[in-house]
Amino acid sequence: MAISHKLLVRAGFIDQLMAGSWTLLPLGWRVISKINRIIREELDAIGCQEMLMPLMHPKEIWNETGRWDSAKEVMYQLKDSREKEFALSFTHEEIVMDLVRKQMLSYKDLPLAIYHFSTKFRNEIRPTGGILRGREFLMKDLYSLHANEKDLQEFYEKVSDAYMRIFKRMGFDIYMTEAAGGVFTEGRTREYQVLAEAGEDTIYVKPGTHEAYNREVFEGNAAEFEKKKAIEVGNIFPFGDKKYAEKMGVFYTDRDGIKKLVHFASYGIGTTRVMGTLAEVFHDDNGVIWPESVAPYQVHLIGLKSKIQNSNDNSNLSVQNIYDKLLEAGVEVLWDDTDRSAGEKFADADLIGIPVRLVVSEKTGDKVEWKGRGENKSELVEINAVLSRLGK
Ligand code: ATP
Ligand code: MG
Repeated sequence: MAISHKLLVRAGFIDQLMAGSWTLLPLGWRVISKINRIIREELDAIGCQEMLMPLMHPKEIWNETGRWDSAKEVMYQLKDSREKEFALSFTHEEIVMDLVRKQMLSYKDLPLAIYHFSTKFRNEIRPTGGILRGREFLMKDLYSLHANEKDLQEFYEKVSDAYMRIFKRMGFDIYMTEAAGGVFTEGRTREYQVLAEAGEDTIYVKPGTHEAYNREVFEGNAAEFEKKKAIEVGNIFPFGDKKYAEKMGVFYTDRDGIKKLVHFASYGIGTTRVMGTLAEVFHDDNGVIWPESVAPYQVHLIGLKSKIQNSNDNSNLSVQNIYDKLLEAGVEVLWDDTDRSAGEKFADADLIGIPVRLVVSEKTGDKVEWKGRGENKSELVEINAVLSRLGK
């Protein structure tokens, strides 16, 4: 069983409904929101626009490209009470193309890049690995449309660069590989891979570099490259004008009023898989160690009551003060206000993996005990210094 699965369940980030299907609990949803925010910022910066598309699709649209049949293995297909057939979204290329076709685009509308964060359903045969491979999971999928191949290639490189920034901001040591396209395209695609034992992919890496190839396309000298297990967190596909535009009749009008096929590409990041991968690569024996950029909270605040104090002690009041000060300054705080033992609270803090643990007790006086999740030593710090360390 993947370690990310064990840790995320134990720490209360996710709950399994059935094989391959997960509830994102409040902590998990906060991580996903951080992941989404990074993706959103980087995509908006290169001119992409966010929207939202439906999850239930009519069979007819999937028949236009032949994927109702060719992708039958992964696609959940269903009938309603009137025998009308539908598919649950496993991707959205056909849906985007249908949308675009109706707009009668002109060259002035291009390039056009639209994306959404939504649920994907895939009939995965072996949904092992916990949240790394769901039958129902979250993905950001981006689609871009262009007047010609050159514009597509240029934008494709821009997205590729944005993907590298996105994954680096999340803390990953990311490898971009050239790969084969599978049910999506016959051409070469790119995958974004994170080295991890739990990975189902095999990539070949040139030692000391980030030059890497997927198993399907690797033709290099195996003595020169190292074989590694990896998790695919993202994938991008340049389709051109044949695979979708030609089959579905998706045109734009050029400068001279002539109808031409649009050039199309799609780009995915599995956001729930990203969360699993983070837990997979950032943890120790005690729990997760979230990078700051994707941590559910910045600070885990713990107040400890002294054993000799009676019920009208004021130690809790001062934790309340610290909590208020942190909130006022805009710090995201998880306050453990239970009256469990120090040991239990510390174990929980390690398990959940928030970057900074702050402890307030009789011993800390007018200061606060600061400990980084990845560090062994703690130190006493004044509250103002705490705020400035947190960038406030
Ligand atoms: P895989 O080879 O792992 O099945 P894929 O090539 O089918 O992935 P894409 O169709 O390219 O995946 O989907 C884009 C992204 O969605 C992937 O890079 C991955 O991060 C994520 N993803 C794909 N399938 C799943 C799944 N079953 N559960 C969670 N995330 C997934
Ligand atoms: Mg797949």
